[in-house]
Amino acid sequence: MIFGLAKGDCLFRIPVRVTSFYQSLAQKAKHPLSKQITPSEDENCEHIDLHWDPLQENAHSPVPYLVHRYPRIALLLVTKQCFAYCRFCFRAGFLKDAETDPTTILDHWEPIAAYLRAHDEIGEVLLSGGDPLTLNDERLFELLRRLREVKPKARIRIGTRAPVFQPKRITRAMLDRMGKVHPVVFYLHVNHPSEITPDFESVIQASLKAGVMCYSQSVLLKGVNDDAKVLQTLLMKLYHLGVHPTYIHLCDMAQGTRHFMVPLKEATQLWRDLWGALPGAAIPHLVFDDAGKGGKIPLIDQVTVKHSPEPCIYSLNQKYVLKYPI
Ligand code: SF4
Repeated sequence: MIFGLAKGDCLFRIPVRVTSFYQSLAQKAKHPLSKQITPSEDENCEHIDLHWDPLQENAHSPVPYLVHRYPRIALLLVTKQCFAYCRFCFRAGFLKDAETDPTTILDHWEPIAAYLRAHDEIGEVLLSGGDPLTLNDERLFELLRRLREVKPKARIRIGTRAPVFQPKRITRAMLDRMGKVHPVVFYLHVNHPSEITPDFESVIQASLKAGVMCYSQSVLLKGVNDDAKVLQTLLMKLYHLGVHPTYIHLCDMAQGTRHFMVPLKEATQLWRDLWGALPGAAIPHLVFDDAGKGGKIPLIDQVTVKHSPEPCIYSLNQKYVLKYPI
């Protein structure tokens, strides 16, 4: 039982699951970490400006479990399983039946392989889901073997929260094998400095030693990391470990996540506060993923609030207009 719910209960937009490792970390760190994994009634509030598939992945899915939004990158939805489910996840529409659907991408492989073979422009494959590292080694390396068969030179990115939720999952044996599939890199999703534990650090050191480069991305979350000091500490820790911070994402326009959203003016101020406080290489881009406008929009320009209260209409440098729910 966690949070008074039995494993598998799905009263909310996505299942409730957390590892004992992260649960004890959240109890120690109290409020900021636990908000990410504790279900809340706010998740059940539908909002007119929010969507079940905010990045329009269904519309860009030519075959099941493959999303092709950017010409040179294919996204593979490897599994619906995660070590823990983040309450703010934008992919709730895909994950919501994870407890009853244990299938993985290997069960749907042939059309995916045919699509990858037919599209020479795809030079990079992003493995996501769900968390690809919930696959056991046998299935994970079978997937990598099949991928190399159809895309011998593609760069393979593995999006994972394993070092945060279940660091012991990443073993030296696994990393040694992974290093040989070169080039494979980790895109780590890390949101708070308390997630960088000694176990996390060991995973990074071992990954780099095995030749698996590490990049990070974070989601800006109200009540979790919407604080200049928290963000600076997080990014400096990552930077010193040899992780390259790439993006801070504005919370996507996903149903049930409004209580996690940070107003755009606050978000851009937090980002500006990083300058001067951190080395340039430790400062990621602040972005909003606008599926209707072709992808990530960097939020670096002057932000003007054109209409308030909600939904707020923001204008970036008088050019791009964004309607954000708060
Ligand atoms: S680990 Fe990633 S895919 Fe899984 S719930 Fe969290 S954000 Fe979503």
